[in-house]
Amino acid sequence: MIVVGLTGGIGSGKSTVAALLVERGAVLIDADEAAREVVKPGRPAYAKLVERFGAGVVAPDGNLDRSAMAAIVFGDPESMADLNAIVHPEVRAEIANRLASLSGSEHVVVLDIPLLVEHGGQDPYGLAGVIVVDAPLDLVLERLVKRRQMDRSDAEARIATQASRPERMARADFVITNTGTLEELEEMVGRAWAWIEHLAAHAAGDEGHSAG
Ligand code: ADP
Repeated sequence: MIVVGLTGGIGSGKSTVAALLVERGAVLIDADEAAREVVKPGRPAYAKLVERFGAGVVAPDGNLDRSAMAAIVFGDPESMADLNAIVHPEVRAEIANRLASLSGSEHVVVLDIPLLVEHGGQDPYGLAGVIVVDAPLDLVLERLVKRRQMDRSDAEARIATQASRPERMARADFVITNTGTLEELEEMVGRAWAWIEHLAAHAAGDEGHSAG
């Protein structure tokens, strides 16, 4: 198994790249999806969030009310820190579990992790490398407004809460510049896939070396 991180700001094209990597045979672990999983009723983070923030964060159907939760922490650093302190360790454990269930396999695992940079750049996952999907701000805004029907100011606000492009680039081992057509993006992903295969061959060589 080889694990490669995939990150990029909102609207960069990260999800599109993830889907293209899956087409090539990668197994995808989506950190956002893991984060939704760990706050489901019955999971430890759920009980801790209700204890900390009250019954107001529970929706009528019993699930966590994500927009109520977001409204509480928005602009309140202390609440935000508490939320993160509850949820982040659970997300890390969830991802670690999923990785453990794949270890020993021959899989290429792509870990789609939007907050890799925001989390101080630590890597608890044994990433062989990190792919960053990058696009300039004006193009990102255009995609979010035109293709995702986001309000321009909402899109700008979302971008402002994220790591900056230079911060993200500093973490990159392989950059996919997504400024062209989707066909061009596909070609770039092909090059990224070749790079991953190169890493995997290296890792296998190292294992053989240390074992032998
Ligand atoms: P992210 O996951 O980084 O937020 P997405 O992959 O969802 O971004 O891409 C945002 C939007 O832009 C989607 O509608 C996607 O289809 C579109 N898109 C991404 N890359 C390109 C491209 N090179 N050309 C045209 N549209 C693109």
